[in-house]
Amino acid sequence: MRPVLAATLLAAASAAHAAETVRIAMGERPEREVVIHGKGLQLGPDSEDGPFQPLDRDEVRIRHVGDSMEVEGQRVNGPVRFRTSDADHWIRAGTTDVRGEVVALPKGSKVLLVNVLPMEDYVAAVLGGEMPVSFPTEALKAQAVAARTYALQRKIEVLGQPVHLGSSVLAQVYGGVNRENPRTRAAAAATAGQILTFQLAPIEAYFHASCEGSTETGLDALSRDLPYLQSVACECRPGASTRWKADLDAAALERAFGGRGELRVAARTGTGRVRRLELGGRSLSGVEFRQRLGYDRVRSLAFDVSPTPGGGARLTGRGLGHGAGLSQWGAKEMADAGQDYRAILAHFYPGTELQTLY
Ligand SMILES: [Zn+2]
Repeated sequence: MRPVLAATLLAAASAAHAAETVRIAMGERPEREVVIHGKGLQLGPDSEDGPFQPLDRDEVRIRHVGDSMEVEGQRVNGPVRFRTSDADHWIRAGTTDVRGEVVALPKGSKVLLVNVLPMEDYVAAVLGGEMPVSFPTEALKAQAVAARTYALQRKIEVLGQPVHLGSSVLAQVYGGVNRENPRTRAAAAATAGQILTFQLAPIEAYFHASCEGSTETGLDALSRDLPYLQSVACECRPGASTRWKADLDAAALERAFGGRGELRVAARTGTGRVRRLELGGRSLSGVEFRQRLGYDRVRSLAFDVSPTPGGGARLTGRGLGHGAGLSQWGAKEMADAGQDYRAILAHFYPGTELQTLY
């Protein structure tokens, strides 16, 4: 992004100040029928200003019919937005309680729900989904800045789209109000409006759970060659909770590679993580391998491979996550050693600046 454009966007975001909102897709996929529940529900078009009309009920059913949607059997054209008459009440959309407002929009032959909420409410909820709330305050504050920056960067990237971010581990884990906690709210409030920038643009603030010694470059972890995503040494120590094993049977390997054979590591990155794997003459990048086998099973790319009977393989791994950017367990170690969130962020995102937007 050109610096001038970035500065303009920053100014635009700054003008929005406390009203800065984000749009989060709820659930992994759209449904044919969804239920919205909230005290004193109001319905309006998908805009901040409405007009919103009170509904005479606390629960409405939305179905995809033909090429559009029906709300309680009444056809509507295009997306609709729900709010409650009382801002202290949250809305239940599907199975999740959320703050802010909920947009229902037709997507293919289904209905997609989008939560529109103030950035700071989002940051407080994401923190509870992404980092143990028992972590030290300065680590939570560092994570709050990273989460806010990540969301704002995504928002600018897709400006004008109905959805800025998903709610799964592929974006940031967002579980609505259930994931809030007094400590996460305090960490969001203590850093309200603060983001990390590089050449005046919000950075791609990737983070992960544990790197076990050194973070990975953005290029090797995510194909993002960015000056502030370099490998840095980290204090997070090997622990039982960050050691993992995965037993992959021959069928799972065959699905991933499209053939059979013995799995072996063909190349490693500068930090020792798996760059490329081979099996029966076929080759896969480590990143692709993790994606195909599942992030829950292959929990990082720092692993060794040994064959198991029947054509399978056992992975013995260290660390959790892709390894780029902020290491959460490393942030905890730094906070426990007396470092503040600014020092933590400067360490994991070298060359960036902390700016206050609002
Ligand atoms: Zn680490």
